[in-house]
Amino acid sequence: MELIGITFISNVRDEKVMGNGIIFRIYERVAEYLNLNDISEDTHLVLLHKISLDPVYLISIPTENGKVKAYSLKAVIDALYSKLLEEREDLVWKREQNLQEKAKKLGENVNIYDELKKFKFNKIIGIVSFPLIDRNPYFGYYEKFLGIHKKIGEKEVMVLSIKPFFSEDTDLLVDRVAKGILHEIGHSYGLDHCENSCIMHPPKNIQDWDRRRPYFCAECLAELKKNAGWI
Ligand SMILES: [Zn+2]
Ligand SMILES: [Zn+2]
Repeated sequence: MELIGITFISNVRDEKVMGNGIIFRIYERVAEYLNLNDISEDTHLVLLHKISLDPVYLISIPTENGKVKAYSLKAVIDALYSKLLEEREDLVWKREQNLQEKAKKLGENVNIYDELKKFKFNKIIGIVSFPLIDRNPYFGYYEKFLGIHKKIGEKEVMVLSIKPFFSEDTDLLVDRVAKGILHEIGHSYGLDHCENSCIMHPPKNIQDWDRRRPYFCAECLAELKKNAGWI
């Protein structure tokens, strides 16, 4: 089984925007979509505590539309990576304790290390609500339907901006972001973009995305399962 951590990265300013349990609803919706695609047995989302970035790290940068306050992409990736390591250690330790207890109860000789190997937790998704910059140029990704992937050894850090999906209608917002996360999960299992009626088909605009159903096409799903080693 593979775990994927999901967290929200905020600063004090936008915490109220993300109130009303929106992150929890996004998490639930993605879990529902994994289930619809029949992969919830193999991959589980874990909702982690949010990460707060201090406003002192904000950088003011000039753009075509005036000044924008942004965080460094590198700082965000570093924060997500250390969060993954920390949570991972915690979970693996808990898992080990459970296995030991189980083995004791059953009086069996369970090879705990073999059992632990089956349990992967190498991926984390961070949802951000503020612009990011990479060195000096303003990071246009904030406005685009694109996630950022960074591989560090066998770990993978993904960052997704909520901005292009924004709507006053929270149910619509939840659905748009959840589909975006499903798409990024697809990339994290090595899928490329796809031309079929598929969640891996990138949208031209938000209306296009709203029409997209939350499914991987048969080819993408087969490739995902193969890449993940599930078949
Ligand atoms: Zn993509
Ligand atoms: Zn596809």
